[in-house]
Amino acid sequence: MKNLLVEKNSGPNIIVKVRDIAIGDKEPVFISGPCSVESYDKMMAIGKELKNIGIHILRGGAFKPRTSPYDFQGLHMEGIKILHEVGKSYNLPIVTEIMDARDIEKCIPYIDMIQVGSRNMYNYTLLKELGKSSLPILLKRGISATVSEWLYAAEYIMSSGNSQVVLCERGIRTFETYTRNTLDLNSVAVIKENYRLPIIVDPSHGTGKRELVESMSLASIACGAHGLMIESHICPDNAVSDARQTVNMDTLKSIVNKSKVLNDIL
Ligand code: PEP
Ligand code: MN
Repeated sequence: MKNLLVEKNSGPNIIVKVRDIAIGDKEPVFISGPCSVESYDKMMAIGKELKNIGIHILRGGAFKPRTSPYDFQGLHMEGIKILHEVGKSYNLPIVTEIMDARDIEKCIPYIDMIQVGSRNMYNYTLLKELGKSSLPILLKRGISATVSEWLYAAEYIMSSGNSQVVLCERGIRTFETYTRNTLDLNSVAVIKENYRLPIIVDPSHGTGKRELVESMSLASIACGAHGLMIESHICPDNAVSDARQTVNMDTLKSIVNKSKVLNDIL
């Protein structure tokens, strides 16, 4: 790779601002919420807990990329509006996935950061459209993407005009089947060493098992991640999607507190 915008020799490290939250600075940023937005009442109850725990950014899927077309596909615009209301009530910026370039414009008034999901990392039409947007982008690593392919995806967004890109390592598909994915923390060290963009880790999709999320969160902070994205719920067993990897509020609190202590001694 030569002369790419993502490279350190193209300029200073990029700090991404999601409203007043800075990603890529010294303090780790915590993003949390359920896999899917399920209802107004549940999202409000979750938002309240997350605010108390000190979560910086609220997540929740309204457009869900499900493996089976028969699984819950999300509440679409209704879900986006619910996120917006909860964000307003608890002063939490919102990040949510958009899968289709045609949905960008109508979602922008309601959200603060756009997530590109793993399955869409190679959707170059979407990436180019997001490059024209003024919102920051959370770019998840493709399920089978090499670090180079992922960085080229970021380059698509940046070269189209938007440098506010955060990379998110969420595990890759390997021969290992014990965990849902293999969380590749090498990528965090590689990106911190050679590239300008902030990098966060999603240990929920990275492991697929809630009992592994705390350990891998701490490992992520230890290797230099600028933040974490963790799926959480007030009643994880009842989560409509990704229940098995969703943590409860006590675990989330423990992760946040331990991560801060760990980050301070690094
Ligand atoms: C998600 O964040 O809920 C999600 C669908 O993630 P990924 O695209 O990494 O599978
Ligand atoms: Mn999920």
